[in-house]
Amino acid sequence: MEQNMSQLRISFEFFPPKTEQGREKLYNTREQLQAFNPAFFSLTYGAGGTTRDTTANIVTGLRKDGISIAPHLSFGGDNEEIVLGLLERYKEAGVDRIVALRGDIPSGMGSVAQLVYANELVAFIRRHTGDHFQLEVAAYPEIHPEAESYDDDIRFLKGKFEAGADSGLTQYFYNPDAYFYFMDQCEKAGINKPIYPGIMPITNFANLARFSRNCGAEIPRWLKYRMESYRDPEDVKKLGLEVVTDLCETLLDGGAPGLHFYTMNQVEPTSSILKALDING
Ligand code: FAD
Repeated sequence: MEQNMSQLRISFEFFPPKTEQGREKLYNTREQLQAFNPAFFSLTYGAGGTTRDTTANIVTGLRKDGISIAPHLSFGGDNEEIVLGLLERYKEAGVDRIVALRGDIPSGMGSVAQLVYANELVAFIRRHTGDHFQLEVAAYPEIHPEAESYDDDIRFLKGKFEAGADSGLTQYFYNPDAYFYFMDQCEKAGINKPIYPGIMPITNFANLARFSRNCGAEIPRWLKYRMESYRDPEDVKKLGLEVVTDLCETLLDGGAPGLHFYTMNQVEPTSSILKALDING
């Protein structure tokens, strides 16, 4: 691999668990993944405030243990006061990084929540907290499903950087050319900030296929057919590990500055991919 491993930025994303048992699992996973020396962990946020307390409580709890944790944040249907309150709370807890998003309206909240574009949230955070937070924003190598055109989506991504974002984290994808082409287009558009590929390990293929349809991530036809032919979940995991490890290797060889893992709160298979890549922190 061409890159110097010690310079790679590795980060791990979690979602807020609903139960005490899930919370225990999250803490345990966090502890084990720490061995890979991540730059930060991140914790998702239900737009519309559905996980407001859980996300904020877990984040501030982990900060007490000195963990580098970035909460995801969006306006959803919340007013400025609520978002400011969260920013204040995070600042006090020593949080120094936020993933700033528009978010999606959770089903059933259609008429209640009103979405605010991520560039406006980035500008809002900068306006009220200056340079305190390192700001990450979402990027879509296969283009956001609601985008009117490829160029529009790049233009709006540029808007997020112009508003003050520091780096991007991508939606997951399995076609490395989508990322490389996207990076070329970003560069042509004048975006010069790092954009880290989001990596989704493959464990349960039916779930992944359903989720991918909603978020606009394409699963290559050959992979879909191969995965759907397996009866034994262990075969799915084995090919998943092989495919995603190869993807990471290709991305890093091609100059990706690091990797952001969607861990689904599990140690495996993220740790197996990192071990296969010989990234041991
Ligand atoms: P935006 O950047 O605001 O873009 C949304 C759409 O509007 C795009 O189609 C874009 O082309 C267009 N657009 C952007 N700006 C403008 C503008 N100024 N005027 C007109 N059109 C515009 N969702 C959650 O609910 N919680 C999470 O914690 C979460 N974490 C995520 C983490 C990552 C790394 C990624 C990649 C996605 C995450 N998502 C999360 C999903 C994300 O919220 C959805 O994809 C959402 O639909 C778009 O959010 P965004 O921040 O990319 O939106």
